[in-house]
Amino acid sequence: MIRINGIHKSFGSNHVLRGVDLQVQQGEVVVVLGPSGSGKSTLLRCINYLETYDKGNVVIEGKPIGRIPMQGQAVQSVEMPQKDLNAVRQDVGMVFQSFNLFPHKSVLHNITMAPTSLRGMNKEDAEQLARELLRKVGLQDKAEARPSSLSGGQKQRVAIARALAMKPKVMLFDEPTSALDPETVGEVLQVMRTLAKEGMTMVIVTHEMGFARDVADRVVVMDGGVIIEEGKPSEIFTKPTHPRTQMFLSQVL
Ligand code: ADP
Ligand code: MG
Repeated sequence: MIRINGIHKSFGSNHVLRGVDLQVQQGEVVVVLGPSGSGKSTLLRCINYLETYDKGNVVIEGKPIGRIPMQGQAVQSVEMPQKDLNAVRQDVGMVFQSFNLFPHKSVLHNITMAPTSLRGMNKEDAEQLARELLRKVGLQDKAEARPSSLSGGQKQRVAIARALAMKPKVMLFDEPTSALDPETVGEVLQVMRTLAKEGMTMVIVTHEMGFARDVADRVVVMDGGVIIEEGKPSEIFTKPTHPRTQMFLSQVL
């Protein structure tokens, strides 16, 4: 479903991604772990080309996103036209640490905005879908509420519903519970567990180790802009082979 090939990314002289290769199968849940600054967010943002990169390419279900690879040519790849990028991007839902909801619009409106403007869905269908998704995330009674009246956990569940309204093929989560009060973390993780059970393809950056252990099909450990180790959670958590993984886990567990 996702094929990341040899991604390199620098910010000025800071070489942040140093050749990352990662493939994610349909329905697979991959959790990305690693110390702060190791390049996890940058990698996630490269997947939907929110971040440009210097080398490499990303393919979503056979379709290049952001850059089109040029085999056997002088240039490795060329920038994709914006309208093609927008089209592939619709298949990739993203949930951030900060919820990025529109504060002055109702929860319902926040969710219907993208499907009506980008997917061309009519208002009635979009609202029906939004209400179904609100039920799914346990917020059916909050359709008319403003985001500012919600708790962090509720806002994040709205953000998940909003991403799902685009019917994405994959969902990317960048530390979705890091900004939440501890008592609302569980409700967000529960929604993510449900999505995983339903077969959603997900790439999740999180420090929630219990969640990673239970839900991940595969854990990927990043350090210094490369993947230093990957495996089943049972392997990574009980017998990590890389000393830096051992050190990271000893700090977070
Ligand atoms: P992580 O998510 O693992 O904490 P990031 O991907 O956010 O790591 O950051 C990796 C490195 O890239 C850090 O050194 C960070 O300072 C740098 N970086 C990230 N985004 C930018 C940016 N927009 N401009 C400059 N440097 C950045
Ligand atoms: Mg980050």
